[in-house]
Amino acid sequence: MLTGIYPGSFDPVHNGHLDIALRASKLFDKLIIGVYDKPNKNNRFTGAQRTEMFRDATGPIDNIEVVQFSGLVTSFAKEMGAKVVVRGLRAGFDFETEFEMALMWRNLDPELDIICLMSSLKYQFIYSSRIKEVADLGGDISNLVPQNVLKSLS
Ligand code: ADP
Repeated sequence: MLTGIYPGSFDPVHNGHLDIALRASKLFDKLIIGVYDKPNKNNRFTGAQRTEMFRDATGPIDNIEVVQFSGLVTSFAKEMGAKVVVRGLRAGFDFETEFEMALMWRNLDPELDIICLMSSLKYQFIYSSRIKEVADLGGDISNLVPQNVLKSLS
C-alpha cells in the first residue's frame, strides 16, 4: 500500500491546501494530512482546531486521514508508514524553501522522497497569513477558504 503524508501548519487550511490534498489523494492509496503543532509557535488556531478544520473541510473521503503531530516530519512519516512527503509549490519563493527542506528531510532519512505538486493557477496567491490579515480587516475571503474556516475567521 502506498501511503503519502502532506504535512504543514495549516493555520488555517485554505482552498490552495485543499486542492493539493485532493489531488494528492488520487496518487496514493492513503494520504495522511499531518497538522504540525509546534509548541510556542505563534499560530492563530490551536493544533486541535487546525486538525478539526482540515478534517471538516475534506469531509468523508475514504483515503484521507487528518492527524496532528509534533516533532520531525521524517519521524512522523516513519510512524505513519509513509515513504513519500507531498508539498505544494506556488510560483516564486516556495521553490527555495521547499528545495532546502526536502534536502534536509532526505539527509535525515534517505529512504524518504518528496514530491511537490504545482499549485493551481487560481490558488497561487493564497497564503494563510494573507487570508488572516484580509479577514481581520473585513475583506471578503469567501472564495478562498472552506465554509467552516470562513465561520471561524469571522
Ligand atoms: P508551512 O507548513 O510552511 O508553515 P503551510 O502549512 O501553509 O506552510 O503549507 C503547507 C504546504 O502547503 C506547503 O508545502 C505549502 O507550500 C503548501 N501551500 C500553501 N499554500 C498553498 C497554495 N496556495 N497552493 C498550493 N500549495 C500551498
